[in-house]
Amino acid sequence: MSLDVLSVASEAFPLIKTGGLADVAGALPLALKAQDIRTRTLLPGYPSVLAALDPTHAALRIPDLFGGPAYVLAVEVNGLDLLVLDAPHLFDRPGGPYQMPGGYDHPDNWARFAALSRAGAEIAMGALDGWRPAIVHAHDWQAALTPVYLAVTNAPRPRTVVTIHNLAFQGNFSSSIFPALGLPPTAWSIEGVEYYGNVGYLKGGLHAADAITTVSPTYAREILTPAGGMGLEGLLAGRASQLHGIVNGIDVDVWNPATDAVIAERYSAQDLKPRRHDKSALEGEFGLRREAGPIFAVVSRLTWQKGLDLVAAACDEIVASGIRLVVVGSGDPEIEDAFRAAHNRHPDRIGVRIGYDEVLSHRVQAGADALIIPSRFEPCGLTQLYGLRYGCIPIVSRVGGLADTVIDANFAASTAGVATGIIFSPVDEENLIAALKRAKGLYDEGAPWQKMQARAMNTDVSWSASAALYADLYRELTKE
Ligand code: ADP
Repeated sequence: MSLDVLSVASEAFPLIKTGGLADVAGALPLALKAQDIRTRTLLPGYPSVLAALDPTHAALRIPDLFGGPAYVLAVEVNGLDLLVLDAPHLFDRPGGPYQMPGGYDHPDNWARFAALSRAGAEIAMGALDGWRPAIVHAHDWQAALTPVYLAVTNAPRPRTVVTIHNLAFQGNFSSSIFPALGLPPTAWSIEGVEYYGNVGYLKGGLHAADAITTVSPTYAREILTPAGGMGLEGLLAGRASQLHGIVNGIDVDVWNPATDAVIAERYSAQDLKPRRHDKSALEGEFGLRREAGPIFAVVSRLTWQKGLDLVAAACDEIVASGIRLVVVGSGDPEIEDAFRAAHNRHPDRIGVRIGYDEVLSHRVQAGADALIIPSRFEPCGLTQLYGLRYGCIPIVSRVGGLADTVIDANFAASTAGVATGIIFSPVDEENLIAALKRAKGLYDEGAPWQKMQARAMNTDVSWSASAALYADLYRELTKE
């Protein structure tokens, strides 16, 4: 039986993206079509989003949405059924979705995303030509007030799901905004949005939602602990039976080494030989010395969360171990500088490109032998999935989605022929270096490494299995 879903998100690929949330919001609706689930996605009308739309008539007018009129535009873009919230007083301005051009948060983010949620709740209750979804799926704090607004209506309402993409971002604001949210006074409570004297958007949503999901089973367990819960572990523990971990998939058409137009040579799990041309091209691109031995790579935000301070600190030992290194990324200035300095010390063994470069990231995945991902926490992670798909063996820490998507080449897994990468823990420099040396040892053996590459490439990293899990959850919720 078909089922209608309203997804509420602050970004969706390919229209607007700052992180993994956009990939999920953009890809999941398409994957759910095979499950007979029809999703409409409510998205803020940022200038770049409106610019990508064909002219259209408003499907709904909201006379006053947090200080001005708003319109909901119903359009289809790349197979996504979009509802774009055109509210110029909130979204028509320079900068990113959350920050002004100088890098500071928009001071009225509380109103911008309360408005998104409020509009989501009105649509969920039939404001758009009487269309009523069975499920409202809100992503992250920016959409998390949607289930809060729905929870305080007296009429029958859709079931609600909140997905946590990264618990580090919670949307906490001063209590002074509470009266402007239009919630009843009872919402100012532990059961509502009150959070240690502030208004907590994610906190309120996690309380109000019928179900909570996050983007991997291991992260779903980690956020129940003081170390991973970022203050919300108590609330989440109370809701543990409604908390589900579902890993993200990737777009296996965009990321396909057999058809990728930007890599030097195309290859597949059946025929990995052409891959050496991609490695050679990578050596050329980064001016690396042409020699036997592996190239390991980093493609990432260069931050503490990603553990890349540890890689920067280990550069000399990495080179001494016979490993060449390629780094593509940007982030903390200190980590950027440390990699630049490492390149200056070893110009033909460490290649560094500071910046964001999507095309280069494909070439690195195709040409490097392994990808280093030593995250301190990682809700799901996408790069290791690209690595698997490209036979660029992931070397990862045992946290979150990394632990759920990579099978360590330990004795048992290697004997059983199921290993797809290298996992280490806990996250520190010593264990990282040991893992890199273990990977180098396996690489040097030759045949087992190539078998592992082919196996990694045959891993199912598409959305289909995860879309089926979301579909099961939606159907379960509508049964109650
Ligand atoms: P997060 O969303 O926490 O940054 P993910 O692994 O989930 O980490 O997703 C990061 C995405 O951004 C991946 O697709 C990765 O390849 C890409 N990426 C990160 N830094 C760069 C960069 N400098 N150039 C190109 N792609 C990058």
